[in-house]
Amino acid sequence: MKYEPVIGLEIHAELLTNSKMFCSCSADYASAPEPNVNICPTCTGLPGAMPVANKKALELSALVGLALNCSINKHNTFARKNYYYPDLPKGYQISQYELPIAEKGWLQATSPLAPLLKGERDSNSLLPTGEGLGMGVVRVRRVHIEEDTAKLNHEKNYALVDFNRAGVPLLEIVSEPDMRTVEAALDYATKIRAILRYLGVNSGDMEKGVLRFEANISVRPVGSNELRKRTEIKNLNSFRALTRASQYEIERQIKIYESGGEVIQETLGWDDARGVTISQRSKEDAQDYRYFPEPDLPPLKLDDAWIDAIKIRLPELPEAKTARFITDFELTPSEARLLTSELSLANYFEEVIRHAKSSPKSVSAWIAGEFMRNLNELKVEADSISAKSLAQLIDMVTDKTISGSSGKVVLAEMFKSGGEPAQIVKDKNLLQLTDADAIQAVVTKILDEHPKEVGEYLAGKETLFQWFMGQAARATKGKADPVMTKELMLKGLEERRK
Ligand SMILES: [Zn+2]
Repeated sequence: MKYEPVIGLEIHAELLTNSKMFCSCSADYASAPEPNVNICPTCTGLPGAMPVANKKALELSALVGLALNCSINKHNTFARKNYYYPDLPKGYQISQYELPIAEKGWLQATSPLAPLLKGERDSNSLLPTGEGLGMGVVRVRRVHIEEDTAKLNHEKNYALVDFNRAGVPLLEIVSEPDMRTVEAALDYATKIRAILRYLGVNSGDMEKGVLRFEANISVRPVGSNELRKRTEIKNLNSFRALTRASQYEIERQIKIYESGGEVIQETLGWDDARGVTISQRSKEDAQDYRYFPEPDLPPLKLDDAWIDAIKIRLPELPEAKTARFITDFELTPSEARLLTSELSLANYFEEVIRHAKSSPKSVSAWIAGEFMRNLNELKVEADSISAKSLAQLIDMVTDKTISGSSGKVVLAEMFKSGGEPAQIVKDKNLLQLTDADAIQAVVTKILDEHPKEVGEYLAGKETLFQWFMGQAARATKGKADPVMTKELMLKGLEERRK
């Protein structure tokens, strides 16, 4: 029997606010000089302390909800999720349960099975329903606000608690179980991260734990619609962990069914070093948490004017930008996706286009190729070279002032010294040789000096042609116009056939 996975994701994202969710302590625990300095009676759960909701966090949450095509609940409430753990001093977490701030949204998917269709891109205002889901759309069940827990530092025989993180605003984005491959889950997670970064609500820095995934996984025979018992893998802190843990869990469940067993509903941890999922506890149901309305916080009443004011703040999101780049700049979908993967890169690309006389296509080829290679190698940001300077460089290659290979040398030098392209070309004497007579002289000299290779080439060893081109590149230090050189070289060789 063939099985298919049914995957849903819960994504926890800390919000980039100055203060915590329910008190005025700094939320920037990463910069705290030492443990337990950004604390007060509220975020350490002292009796009698009263929470007050963070206005900025509500705005950012609504912004995310709108970006994910959700409807915003004008009346939404906070609830207590009761459970005991040493990193939760109150004995409950303030969360949202029955009425989250946003729900019933969707995200366009791009996976090998569901390519981006032209007509689908402009459908932002349409909420797809029922039929045909999984065909390029992942439904977002809800987006709700909660607070992060403290941090436990485990020592050998004891653990230390740091409350600097306790009460930091946390957004939970819950998808429907609409993903049928690990690739689709990875695609969805990648897109959510990009959207959060575009919105400026989360840095996406997973090494710091500001974005965490939980995967709900079950498997079923291909073609069936049943939803079997699922397991939940907690605290996946990288795309790699998400991928490996999901793959492992899918295979584990298939093996259980194939040997006649039953999958148990439970919460699992992921042991990255050993590459296995580990049982942590049998899965709680919602009733185990004894949710009840938070008595210390009034329900949130949001009105249309407030929601409209947030809506105006929505920037052009990655999917829309990708579509526009494809249409306006005639890029391929993969080129456009690469350039829109980071907002800073997309903005930089458009700025170079504004300065350049060259076509957007050649600008894209330079940025996606040589430019990105340098960025990754040197680990620097795109704007370490001004858009104007890069545009000048690309134009010099386009109008044949310098050759493509000289262009790469100039770019590397620009990254190194920060110099202007025209000056570097002058200093390094890289002006392209486009004088036909000069190139002809070089070609004639090479052919005259290598009668043996000419003879072999004419006898049929055509691979030698590249060798002749290499000789010409060496003689001119890569400055000869390659198209012209190729033409003259072929002509010179044929003339010697007589
Ligand atoms: Zn506090």
